Amino acid sequence: MKTPICTFDAKTSILCTKCETKLRLGQLTHADVDGAIKIAKLAEGSQDVDNFTMLGAYKVDDDFILTLRSSDINILRTHPSVLRKFEEEFQSKVWFVEGQATDRKFIENIIFPSKLLANHTIWLPDGSKLTKVTLAASNMPEVQSKIERIKRIVKQIKNIELVVEFESEK
Ligand SMILES: [Zn+2]
Repeated sequence: MKTPICTFDAKTSILCTKCETKLRLGQLTHADVDGAIKIAKLAEGSQDVDNFTMLGAYKVDDDFILTLRSSDINILRTHPSVLRKFEEEFQSKVWFVEGQATDRKFIENIIFPSKLLANHTIWLPDGSKLTKVTLAASNMPEVQSKIERIKRIVKQIKNIELVVEFESEK
C-alpha cells in the first residue's frame, strides 16, 4: 500500500515530523491524511486494498474523493464487496478518480457508471466557460439524484462549470 503519507504513519494514525511539516506547508491536506489512515485500516482486511496506491484525496461537503491508480479503480468496480467496505469506513459516498486524469477522464470517472457521450466547451462573452456534457445512464433517476453533487465536486476540484444533458440508454 502507498499513500501520500508514510505507511507507518497511516497505520498508527500518527504523523512523523516530516509528514507533519508537509501538512503545515500545505503539501498535504487533511483529506490526504484522513484518506491514508482509512485506507490503511481497509488494507488490514483486504489483500486487494493492500496493493492500492492512493495518490491523494479531497473532501467536498460530505463526499470523499480518492485519487487512485486506474488498476485500483478497476478492482473497486469489479468487487462490490470492497467498494462497500470503503463506504462503511469513510461513512460517506466515496468517489474514485484516476491520478493525473485529464478533465475528460476526471468527468468520466466521477459520472461512472453513466457514460459520457459527448462534451464540449462553451465560451461565454465574459471569457468564462462552461463544459456541456451529454450522459447516458441505465438508471436515470439515480444519476439525476446525484448530479448536483457531481457538479459541486467537478467545480471544486477541477474548476469546471458543468452543464449536464441526459440521453436515455436503450
Ligand atoms: Zn511520515
